[in-house]
Amino acid sequence: MELGLEGKVALVAAASRGLGYAVARALAAEGVRVSIVSRDGARIQEAARRIRDETAADVLAIAADIRSADAIAEWVKRTRERLGGVDLLFTNAGGPPAGTFESLTDDKVWYDAFDLLVLSAVRMVRAAIPLMRERGGGSMVLSTSAAVKEPSPNLTLSNVVRASVAALSKTLADEHAKDGIRVNQLIPGRIDTDRVRELDGIRAERSGISVEEVKQRSAAQIPLGRYGDPSEFARAAVFLLSDAASYITGASMQVDGGRLRSVF
Ligand code: NAD
Repeated sequence: MELGLEGKVALVAAASRGLGYAVARALAAEGVRVSIVSRDGARIQEAARRIRDETAADVLAIAADIRSADAIAEWVKRTRERLGGVDLLFTNAGGPPAGTFESLTDDKVWYDAFDLLVLSAVRMVRAAIPLMRERGGGSMVLSTSAAVKEPSPNLTLSNVVRASVAALSKTLADEHAKDGIRVNQLIPGRIDTDRVRELDGIRAERSGISVEEVKQRSAAQIPLGRYGDPSEFARAAVFLLSDAASYITGASMQVDGGRLRSVF
């Protein structure tokens, strides 16, 4: 299958590890020049070095907090200066704090979650659209969570706030098809990353069982019987971003081993 990705430029957010890193690496392996961002300077440079070593791709690494509008604008500006433009965008962010509804008594945590998950995506998209238009089109993947379809216990902020990103993805697909920009939502579920290990640790503490037991019980709920590998999620992102998905926009794709049971 021809992906048509060679030589394109991608912005990949929250990419020092986990899903973002896997997507950046998989794009780089297809000949994409990637611009990656996350907060910690040393970690994002290390991620870039690993991707360069493994793929020989051109990688720009920027340390920035994606909750800051200025930081996102600067990231995109530097990407344009150094890599000449933008064709592809993968939005992503760290997860918000866990907690039940009643534990979240301070309004600030709600605003913080909105900044982290929704406004970061809004600002990345806003900065990328004019650059994609200049290139005659582009492709975006907005990464969310299985929680947009099935709220997860003790993840109230994620359950409520990420739904906005799902709606944003669908709205953008409709408004920007005329610009040749495709927009799709990618839904991870139980992909084995630091975030999932952290959440399993919290569940283990709350229920008084070992982390291994939590993982076994969780995997037993998944038809494929295991957690996913970040590279499996990344392959779906690469496909949706590529020309091979040229007639796919406004779609939501799950990469969850079959865990979500709803028909759509
Ligand atoms: P992770 O914790 O392994 O990685 C998160 C990445 O985000 C890191 O590179 C971190 O440095 C970066 N980051 C965090 N906050 C940032 C900020 N303010 N500015 C810039 N970079 C920031 O998490 P992951 O498993 O890769 O998940 C990525 C997102 O997908 C999270 O929001 C997570 O909740 C969500 N998610 C993951 C899964 C899964 O199965 N892994 C399932 C559902 C949802």
